[in-house]
Amino acid sequence: MSAEFFPQEIIRKKRDGLPLSEAEIQFIVRGITDNSISEGQIAAFAMAVFFQDMSMEERVWLTRAMVNSGDVMDWSNADLGRPVVDKHSTGGVGDKVSLMLAAIVAACGGAVPMISGRGLGHTGGTLDKLDSVPGYNTAPDPDLLKKVVKNVGCAIIGQTSDLATADRRFYATRDVTATVESIALITASILSKKLAAGLDALVMDVKFGSGAFKEKYEDAEALAKSIVTVANGAGMPTTAILTDMNQVLGHTAGNAIEVRETIDFLMGKNVDKRLLEVVSVLCSEMLVIAGIADETTAPMAVHGALNSGSAAERFAQMIAALGGPTDLMTNPDKHLPLAPISRDVIAPRRGYIAKMDTRAMGVAVMDLGGGRHKASDSIDYGVGLSNIQGIGAKLGPRNPVATIFARNEAQADQAEKRILGAITIAEEAPAPTSAIGRKITKEDL
Ligand code: URA
Repeated sequence: MSAEFFPQEIIRKKRDGLPLSEAEIQFIVRGITDNSISEGQIAAFAMAVFFQDMSMEERVWLTRAMVNSGDVMDWSNADLGRPVVDKHSTGGVGDKVSLMLAAIVAACGGAVPMISGRGLGHTGGTLDKLDSVPGYNTAPDPDLLKKVVKNVGCAIIGQTSDLATADRRFYATRDVTATVESIALITASILSKKLAAGLDALVMDVKFGSGAFKEKYEDAEALAKSIVTVANGAGMPTTAILTDMNQVLGHTAGNAIEVRETIDFLMGKNVDKRLLEVVSVLCSEMLVIAGIADETTAPMAVHGALNSGSAAERFAQMIAALGGPTDLMTNPDKHLPLAPISRDVIAPRRGYIAKMDTRAMGVAVMDLGGGRHKASDSIDYGVGLSNIQGIGAKLGPRNPVATIFARNEAQADQAEKRILGAITIAEEAPAPTSAIGRKITKEDL
């Protein structure tokens, strides 16, 4: 360890509310990466930041130091001929947007090397959804990844420990010391991985509402502003869009079942309106920020990719190029089997859904075995919910709230109770709301 600094002195400084220098932040991140600072010191540092916060300048330094703790992907020699752009979501229930978005943006001329995570708690993870596709390789070697991004335009893969190496140890300690919620630390954690992916531009989907990581709109807005400021400060053009998580996104929640909804969506079948709204806005924003289209032409390009089937084609090509079945789009029943017990959840009285505890809907999927309580848990890809009704939907004996797919009756009972407890029924339908909140650009800051 360099004798230049002592970790406890840096922790003390932050504890006492003093700003840290770039060199001090680099020292802490180096220590996290090479194990020269202890878990106790990481925890104390995280707690000091949690209470005393970091200026935007400190957040940029922390993010940069975390990027430099591992490899940085370089697309300049991959001969892509397209801008490299990605979207990142803070996570929601039923959020399968990444699956369709990567294919749509690829079809519109972007290159999308999307590094995704597994789910923990009530939100699902894109990687878990793709793990339900037999044969799909979420950890291709760098050459295969480059080849797929070049030939298909998109590849959704898992995080490797070579990118933003410090984040893994830092996050693991934050996770067990009640310090995940710090906006400064979330910003650096998310952006270090995105910057290490070598992106030209990023769009952030920051969720608010009952199923979101940041439930209150103001907290989600603060996170979005922090991310936009720091990402642009670190040289990556980034905008954020706030989206509503006060109800499940789309009409399914689970793993294989969400891939099935994605296939239907891309083929124009049973398309959920709110999901289409979110997908369209995020894809359009990606095309604009990457310089592929402008505000007027971007939505047209997105709808063109959906209506012509070219987005569906890209999705099928990505699945096949990464080892999945070549007939997934036409044979989802064969490749994405659902659990054997299906049960409609009927509300105890007629009326309209006025409110939803979206987090509880995510927990119902966990009750079924489709989500994780702790990182080491394994999950059941075939369980989940379909036909999920949104706010304003009419309920009655023939209009269920959702359909459960369970492995056994006891799990179905528990999930049914959870779902019924998650909705509030009213006599009158509430006024419809948009799924899209405000957009935050660097000009707004
Ligand atoms: N997601 C991340 O990748 N990091 C955080 O700190 C929180 C959410």
